[in-house]
Amino acid sequence: MDGTAVARRITDATAAAAAELTERTGTAPCIATVLVGEDPASVTYVRMKRNRCAQAGIESRHVPLPASISTAGLVEAVEGLSADPSVHGILLQHPVGDHIDERAAFEAIAPGKDVDGVTMHSFAAMAFGLPGFVSCTPGGILRLLDAYDVDLAGRHAVVVGRSAILGKPAGMLLLGRNATVTYCHSRTKDLRSIVREADVLVAAVGRPRFIAGEDIKPGAVVVDAGYSPGNIGDVAFETARLRAGLITPVPGGVGPMTIAVLLAQTVDAARAQLGVA
Ligand code: NAP
Repeated sequence: MDGTAVARRITDATAAAAAELTERTGTAPCIATVLVGEDPASVTYVRMKRNRCAQAGIESRHVPLPASISTAGLVEAVEGLSADPSVHGILLQHPVGDHIDERAAFEAIAPGKDVDGVTMHSFAAMAFGLPGFVSCTPGGILRLLDAYDVDLAGRHAVVVGRSAILGKPAGMLLLGRNATVTYCHSRTKDLRSIVREADVLVAAVGRPRFIAGEDIKPGAVVVDAGYSPGNIGDVAFETARLRAGLITPVPGGVGPMTIAVLLAQTVDAARAQLGVA
């Protein structure tokens, strides 16, 4: 599954929607990017996201904050952006530092501006199957499966990983599409035998080539959300592709879809806040 191509189609549609919104209202969609400290990977991620925003006609306001900021200081900064009508979406780059109550900082994002889908409000809406912003990576996975017309109803989906931003919501979105979902995690017993039963496999662990090609059920749909340095996914791609019906590469699979969803949700947020149907 070519995430780069599908993401490009989504981003083209998003750019057209952003241009139309800007023309109609005189206001361009705007995302605030909040970065605490100068972690090199985070600096790169934020720069990349801002570049992609610019290409799609989305303005971005960068808010760099010192690594020494307190939880109260960060919450205050995010609350300020939540109340600022010229900001339509807020991205708080993770991680924010061990001394900060990350949950408190995320919860300072107004639900209508939670374009990264990180608040409890967004998570609950997703769990209830109600409209709202989804966590971008799982949202991107679902859009990719849809682009390839993958029928999920009644299929056995196995999600390896259960983080709050990735594995857990991915499984819930698949459940919402009537897949029969099994979660695997670090305490799972006999993980390999469960993986071998997967019609749809989502790998979200963060361990290079954790899933062996020989464990892929023939014809299975394999989504590799994992990323380890050196562009290495969670699935042993070269052997897995010989058995899978569909499979995402790393890079060029889930990664581009994540950013595409962030941009699309930012324009959706701006449209709602600017009162454009
Ligand atoms: P995380 O918070 O570290 O979660 C990893 C999950 O994997 C946990 O649920 C953990 O289980 C499970 N796990 C770890 N070791 C395991 C083992 N030996 N057997 C079974 N399960 C194991 O990571 P994350 O934030 O979800 O990210 C996962 C991967 O996705 C990373 O490679 C990350 O870089 C990538 N990612 C990619 C994108 C993108 O845009 N493409 C976005 C986000 C993340 P426990 O819960 O039991 O500890």
